[in-house]
This record gives sequence, C-alpha cells and structure tokens, in this order.
Amino acid sequence: MRRAIIAGNWKMHKTGPEAVQLAKELLNRVSDVSNIEIVVCPPFTALESVAWVLGEGPVKIGAQNMHWADEGAYTGEVAAKMLLTIGCRYVILGHSERRAHFGESNSIVNKKLKAALATSLVPIVCVGEKLGEREKGQTEAVVQGHVVGAFEGLSPADLQSVILAYEPVWAIGTGKTASPEQANEVHAFIRDLLKKSFGESLARDIRIQYGGSVKPENAASLLSQPEIDGALVGGASLDAESFSQIIKAVT
Ligand code: PEP
Repeated sequence: MRRAIIAGNWKMHKTGPEAVQLAKELLNRVSDVSNIEIVVCPPFTALESVAWVLGEGPVKIGAQNMHWADEGAYTGEVAAKMLLTIGCRYVILGHSERRAHFGESNSIVNKKLKAALATSLVPIVCVGEKLGEREKGQTEAVVQGHVVGAFEGLSPADLQSVILAYEPVWAIGTGKTASPEQANEVHAFIRDLLKKSFGESLARDIRIQYGGSVKPENAASLLSQPEIDGALVGGASLDAESFSQIIKAVT
C-alpha cells in the first residue's frame, strides 16, 4: 500500500513573516493527521524560518529547486547540503515552470536528481505535457521522454525514494483540471513504463502525485483514483484552509 503524499508548492509567494504565518495556520489544522505525508515548499528565503515553525510535527519541508553541484561558482544557486542543513527533506525537480522559463532540460533534471539522491533529500520529479502536445496525441511520448530522461543512468535501487508528479502543463494554474480518469490513465501509463524499464517492484511502489489545479472541490475524486498517490498543489496551498481540506480529502 503506497502512503499518500500531499505537497504544497508556494512558488514565488510569501515573504518570511507571511510564510511563517501560513505554516502556523496549516499546523493548527493538520496536527491530528498522521497517515498522510504532508510537505510544504516555501521559497528559499523562508525555508529556515518555516522549518523552525514546523519542527518535528506532521508537516515536512521541501525546496522548489536545487543545483546539481555540491558547491561552487554558481551565482544565485543553492546546493543540496545547504537545504539539508536547514531542515529540508524534499526537493521539487523539473517543475514545468523551471523547464519553460529557465531552460531546464531532461538532462539537467537528471543531473539534479542524481545530486539529490546522493544525499538524503527526497526528490519530487515533475513530468507532464503541454496543451498542444496533448492535442497532437503526444502525451505519452512527452511523459515517457521526461521520465526516461530524468531517470537515465539510475537503477531501481537508486530510485526507491523518488516521487513522481504528473502535472499536465495545461492544468497548472489555469483552473482546468485533468479529469480523474484522464489523470489516472497517464499514471497507469507511467507505471507500465517503469515496469518495463525498471521492474515490477519499483513500478508498484513508486508514488505518483497528480498536479494541476487541485482544489478542495476536486481533490477527493482525483485522490480516489487507484493510480494517484497524492497531489502537488500550487495555488490552493497558499491558503491553509484550502490546503488542509485537500489533505483531509485523502481520508
Ligand atoms: C504546480 O505548480 O505544481 C501546480 C500544480 O499549480 P496549481 O495547483 O496552481 O495548478
């Protein structure tokens, strides 16, 4: 049985004090939740202060990005060990906004994934097609390219802790959601692909989140699909009440 994981991507929202406030409001609402992995990913500038607020409670902390190098002359970048030492446990990699605005290719995602796996960070690797690609019938080819590209050179043992997030780009921040059946179909495709490339046990155990305009109103129907193991939530994670309702929709 795969454990559900709900993660909030705060993107470039919230100053330090605002992030602390949101984290406190969330903690108040989910302090009794124990069977679900809950993660929030504030901007870099708020990670440390939010980590202090969350402590050892039920909400864990993740970053939205990292560099692949251990350290070095990479102005403006952040390394895995910097994240780990301030309490980060997860890192989002290959988000479609990073691919679209910052030129992140599959090979960059692959380098970052290898760097994250060399530490104890749990990577959340995002994959998903654009609207035009879906309309041209290329969804499976694009998703396959993202998964195979990100996982290149890694073994099933290496990939054990990895979480995938299927995020159709046309559903991110648009209010358009993939129907539960559409999402489940792509998740099943990914699992089948992993079975062929990495074997049955990884395909069975890996968790695949859905992301794309998940809201309290649609969370239960998406999360009840057999192949959907959680959600990566953008907009609705900026409101403690909405995000906690999505978490509670798992049960
Ligand atoms: C995201 O950014 O990963 C996301 C899914 O955003 P939203 O929930 O706002 O569509």
